[in-house]
Amino acid sequence: MTNIQETSASELSHREVQLPQAIARLENATSATILCHVQPDADTIGSGLALALVLERKGIPVQVAFGAPDELPESMREFPGTHLLVPASQVRRNVDLLVTMDCGSAGRLGKLADRLENAGETLVIDHHRSNTRFGNMNLIDDSAESTTAVVAQMFDLWGVDIDADLAHCLYAGLVTDTGSFRWVQPGTHTLAERLLDTGIDGARIARRLLDTHPFGWLPMLSEVLASATLMPEAAGGRGLVFAVIRQADIGDLRSEEVESVIDIVRTTSEAEVAAVLKEATDGSWSVSLRSKSDVDVSRVARYLGGGGHRFAAGYTSTGTSSEIVTSLVDSLG
Ligand code: 5GP
Ligand code: MN
Repeated sequence: MTNIQETSASELSHREVQLPQAIARLENATSATILCHVQPDADTIGSGLALALVLERKGIPVQVAFGAPDELPESMREFPGTHLLVPASQVRRNVDLLVTMDCGSAGRLGKLADRLENAGETLVIDHHRSNTRFGNMNLIDDSAESTTAVVAQMFDLWGVDIDADLAHCLYAGLVTDTGSFRWVQPGTHTLAERLLDTGIDGARIARRLLDTHPFGWLPMLSEVLASATLMPEAAGGRGLVFAVIRQADIGDLRSEEVESVIDIVRTTSEAEVAAVLKEATDGSWSVSLRSKSDVDVSRVARYLGGGGHRFAAGYTSTGTSSEIVTSLVDSLG
């Protein structure tokens, strides 16, 4: 490649796009890879599979994948479109258009981040406040409740008929990212109503994603919550509560059980900020952060190498759990 071409390629990057340009690029794709974030949740998988189904119907060859773990979380296996998922190792190295879903930064792609290099163009579709605009084309709506809500808007403008299969995927992201419709805004329920009106079983989707755990979840909770710690002086006196989940606590429990813990810890009324430290199999830690009103945890997470939303963010780190708590407390001020 000549220098001139390199210059023009880099000028292409970091472009903000709106729905019409994103739609035009998707329409013109000759092949597409859709990447979801590592440790995928229902929003990244729901938006990825919904778009993949639409591209498949338009005759565009499409793959969907995520960097880790190897298997799709069990609670998402009923989603329509899973036939388009491929293992990370089978993701094409050269593709016309690479789309990332619900990823605030390239690091969220894990080992698949290298696929950004050989894509003709990269389209980042997301709703994270901290998004680093790592694509050539960046469709970022940080006012959207979920990435699936952005995708629903795109389908409407595109003239895509949102049938029950698409609605199932879109609803899954909406119900999880709004905390079962607790963090809502005008329009959230209108979208939910439209999706439910296609005939999907919203109660079943939500129960499977959010309200189903094996019995072993209960002793794990008991162990982890018993050692939860309250630090009233942290975060400028607003308070921090944290809990630590070690590999020994996890055993063979699923990600669904591990990810549920923050939703209990964050209800602590004496603490503005809640954190859960989750030990990975390689000994590193992923940290979930939540706040209630006046602490922007996305800023703290970004400072510590991660990102997220104002009231929900995260990062990964190495070291001992007490080192991680110390650096978190320091960053909270
Ligand atoms: P959770 O605590 O549910 O894993 O994540 C909360 C929010 O923070 C999500 O929106 C998620 O995308 C974001 N987040 C979690 N971990 C990371 C991380 O390591 N890097 C970045 N950039 N964002 C993260
Ligand atoms: Mn999301």
